[in-house]
Amino acid sequence: MANRTLETTCCVVGGGPAGVMLGYLLARAGVAVTVLEKHQDFNRDFRGDTVHPSTLELMYELGILGDFLKVPHQELTSAGGIFGDFPFTAAITTSLPTHCKFIALMPQWDFLNFLSDKAKEFPSFHLRMKHEAIDLISDNGRIQGVVANSPDGPVEIRADLTVGCDGRHSRTRAAAGFEVREYGVPIDALWFRIRRASNDPENLLGNVNYGRVLIMIPRGDYFQVGLVIRKDSFEEVKQRGLEEFRNTLCRSAPYLGDRVEEIRDWDQVRLLSVQINRLRQWHRPGLLCIGDAAHAMSPVFGVGINLAIQDAVATANLLAGPLRQGRVTEEMLARIQRRREFPTHVTQFLQVMAHKGLQTVFRNPGPAKAPWPFKTVVSIPGIQRVIARVIGVGVLPEHIRDARNKPACDAKLIKKIAVGAGLALAGAVIAGRLIRSFRKPA
Ligand SMILES: Cc1cc2nc3c(=O)[nH]c(=O)nc-3n(C[C@H](O)[C@H](O)[C@H](O)COP(=O)(O)OP(=O)(O)OC[C@H]3O[C@@H](n4cnc5c(N)ncnc54)[C@H](O)[C@@H]3O)c2cc1C
Repeated sequence: MANRTLETTCCVVGGGPAGVMLGYLLARAGVAVTVLEKHQDFNRDFRGDTVHPSTLELMYELGILGDFLKVPHQELTSAGGIFGDFPFTAAITTSLPTHCKFIALMPQWDFLNFLSDKAKEFPSFHLRMKHEAIDLISDNGRIQGVVANSPDGPVEIRADLTVGCDGRHSRTRAAAGFEVREYGVPIDALWFRIRRASNDPENLLGNVNYGRVLIMIPRGDYFQVGLVIRKDSFEEVKQRGLEEFRNTLCRSAPYLGDRVEEIRDWDQVRLLSVQINRLRQWHRPGLLCIGDAAHAMSPVFGVGINLAIQDAVATANLLAGPLRQGRVTEEMLARIQRRREFPTHVTQFLQVMAHKGLQTVFRNPGPAKAPWPFKTVVSIPGIQRVIARVIGVGVLPEHIRDARNKPACDAKLIKKIAVGAGLALAGAVIAGRLIRSFRKPA
């Protein structure tokens, strides 16, 4: 039984990228919003630290990009790797139609602290740390808020709309009884750090060899390293021992040399159980799920944060006005699902395809040889820019609806559409004249 009741217009469960962004945007639009986060701070390692060009573009539209870029970060402009003995470049971001032509690498807690500090400038924003939603409040089939555990005991937060942004293990979606569709995933990932040396590569690097895929993300003076392993095989890896683990790293990325000795304890290695799933329906009256709570993403292509933020923007664009006027309908919630389902499906499809590719790597424990289709694809002129666009900007990117600064990509798109329409019109006129001239009686 709750000993207190709080009231708000929108209760956001979860202070990850989706929840904090949604809280910020709604507060900016004058909606009373309470964001609940179960932890006492945002400090968690290896949660995904990539801020993509599309998210940076949103910051530009919001007029906070300059401040954001003052927060320490690294800028990644290309990604590639070595497949066996074949070096390749997979993506180059320098010609993206966005203001920032790079992926910013920033610890996620810095990103969330920045965004929540900006949100706190609006009086209608309330962030409640150490508040864990444990149940939904339901009245006649409509969700009216949540019950949360807080440092002062259980509390009821009553709201016109509750948004579940509580990630892949979402309690909100479980309490709502939403149906989850799982897409089998053959991989898990192990994350750890290794010191960088001055002559190490500057850009993101995937090393494919000896049945392993090792991802090296340069982070200032260290690499964030991800070793892709077969699903549920971490115990097996541990049983083979740390010596064998270090040998694996050395074989996959020989330039690490004796730096692999830095891994002295399994406590330094964090397991990410990779999932891909999504809800059949993201909403019911009074409740919407977005971000990983609606569709858990694999870390492949590092796009989960991006999608979560895009969901938040679409939600704020469509619901800020109706929330202010107290007239949010279930049809509006369904519109958000319809809008965001397509980018989610496409991205998850690409991730499933990438997982299939990774499975073939596991099958060959010897020296790897890049297959010819792979070599052909990465040699197509301009392919690196196309891949960069898919990863850096994504499918159907969202924009801040009331953006004071018009986004660069929209301006370019409108120009292209205008030129295309002009050419089509001119073509139609010429064709019409030709046809008429043929029809003219001799
Ligand atoms: C190890 C790892 C590496 C990844 N690497 C990348 C990457 O490099 N780039 C990338 O784009 N994506 C990456 N991803 C995916 C990415 O982290 C997610 O897709 C993204 O964070 C989803 O954002 P979200 O806000 O929906 O959920 P989350 O980031 O999961 O945030 C959910 C929040 O809700 C809080 N919460 C949970 N339950 C409750 C509750 N009951 N009450 C209150 N609060 C609650 C949690 O504490 C958390 O803060 C990675 C994921 C993992 C696990």
